[in-house]
Amino acid sequence: MTLPQLVTISPRATSFTAVCRACARAMHEPGWTGATFAGRLDLDLESGVFLCRHGHEVHVERERAAAERRATEAA
Ligand SMILES: [Zn+2]
Repeated sequence: MTLPQLVTISPRATSFTAVCRACARAMHEPGWTGATFAGRLDLDLESGVFLCRHGHEVHVERERAAAERRATEAA
């Protein structure tokens, strides 16, 4: 069991393209084409959970939220 991948996007981004790490690792398998997937996160949402084209869970978080979390952890 591995932790879900976390992708950070810019604070004002509403759409993003990410590379699924699990897919990138499986790229050598037959029929596995491409590790990138696109998603959309509305501006009023700080984070979301997405599934890549092969169903791997990828957490997406805005940079602002990630920075706040780091600040909280450092305190
Ligand atoms: Zn994947």
